[in-house]
Amino acid sequence: MLSAERSQFELTDEQRQIGELAAEIAQREIAPHVARWDREHAFPRELYGKLTEAGIMGIVVPEEYGGAGADYISYALAIEEIARVDAGTATTVSVHSMICSALVRLGTEVQKRRWLPKLATEDVIAGFALTEPDAGSDAASIRATARRTAGGYVLNGRKQWCTNGSQAGVVMAMFRTGGRGPKGVSAFMVDASTAGIVVEKVTEKLGIHTSNTVDLAFDDAEIPADALLGEEGDGFGNAMKALTAGRIGIGAQATGILAACLDESVRFAKERAAFGRSIGAFEGVSFKIAQMATDLDAARLLVYRAAALADAGKPFAVEASKAKLFASTAARKHAAEALQIHGGYGYTTEFPVERHYRDAKITEIYEGTSEIQQVIIARSLLGKLE
Ligand SMILES: Cc1cc2nc3c(=O)[nH]c(=O)nc-3n(C[C@H](O)[C@H](O)[C@H](O)COP(=O)(O)OP(=O)(O)OC[C@H]3O[C@@H](n4cnc5c(N)ncnc54)[C@H](O)[C@@H]3O)c2cc1C
Repeated sequence: MLSAERSQFELTDEQRQIGELAAEIAQREIAPHVARWDREHAFPRELYGKLTEAGIMGIVVPEEYGGAGADYISYALAIEEIARVDAGTATTVSVHSMICSALVRLGTEVQKRRWLPKLATEDVIAGFALTEPDAGSDAASIRATARRTAGGYVLNGRKQWCTNGSQAGVVMAMFRTGGRGPKGVSAFMVDASTAGIVVEKVTEKLGIHTSNTVDLAFDDAEIPADALLGEEGDGFGNAMKALTAGRIGIGAQATGILAACLDESVRFAKERAAFGRSIGAFEGVSFKIAQMATDLDAARLLVYRAAALADAGKPFAVEASKAKLFASTAARKHAAEALQIHGGYGYTTEFPVERHYRDAKITEIYEGTSEIQQVIIARSLLGKLE
């Protein structure tokens, strides 16, 4: 049964079908291999051809560009079901979909026709490059530059921790075209095969080992003028718009990790015996599971609310921040509880909870840390106080 249905959330037939499709693919194509991929830090490149074929990589792309044209609730369901099996794959799909969605909302018709069919149907993956060694949460202080030339722009600088970076065909990347601060930043859809773009480093991580995280160096990389996304100076705002929608994906990813922790905890608590009883008979264990199930429902409903607002064309930034903040905190906390319920077995690689424990932490960091989500939520209530 789909996770959503377990919390009695009403789904349309299409939403249910997409969720079931994602769950089925995750079980068939990811579950048998994920422990090995995680151990080997392998990016399963061949998987993405299968996800493309199934319509998952084009899930948010309108049908006229070859996509599924699905809504954000369907998208959240798909990410949740994938993350329930492998959070790393959910990272790849979520970042890719964030770029697709940004292109749909912000791209010119030429840019959409150039990239969306490739991203939806041709197994081309998208990456996102905003962060730099000295600019993370304070993204308006990026230093990498795009210099205007007669034919377009020349890119220089270094981007850090670019998800999908060495696997991407196209990267949405932010560079400075003007003076200091957010108004000097522009966004570009950069063809990753452009001369002068080099993968400088592949980052080793605590978790999400099946996702690709790299530093990219731009050394006099020449791109055409029509790679500019929106107007010059709109880049910071456009990156924030992309990330706002992206937070629905990361909230759903955290929810999927949490759902996996609950599945594993229930199974183990019924099977494992101590002092002549199932450990689930001890309140010290069963209350942890009760809280996990409650927080899972709450996380899911916050994610679906943000997705429903986005689908209705209403403002959803604060709701997306709340969804990501709650779901990621709950995922990190309950992954630790799930490991504790498993006792010593939880600390071994024989059970997947140690992977969920390592994977959960990133959801509190990328696409805006928990503190940044709190800044956004607090500002919506208090305004910008000096
Ligand atoms: C695995 C991984 C994948 C990533 N993928 C991408 C990607 O695809 N593209 C991309 O551009 N970036 C990516 N990132 C970068 C990620 O988005 C940043 O790490 C994140 O935004 C935080 O920035 P930072 O690491 O520089 O931390 P900092 O901004 O230096 O923050 C350090 C600490 O200070 C806190 N802090 C900072 N400012 C405030 C404030 N105003 N109020 C309260 N607390 C504050 C933070 O919450 C944090 O706890 C990725 C990172 C990782 C680890």
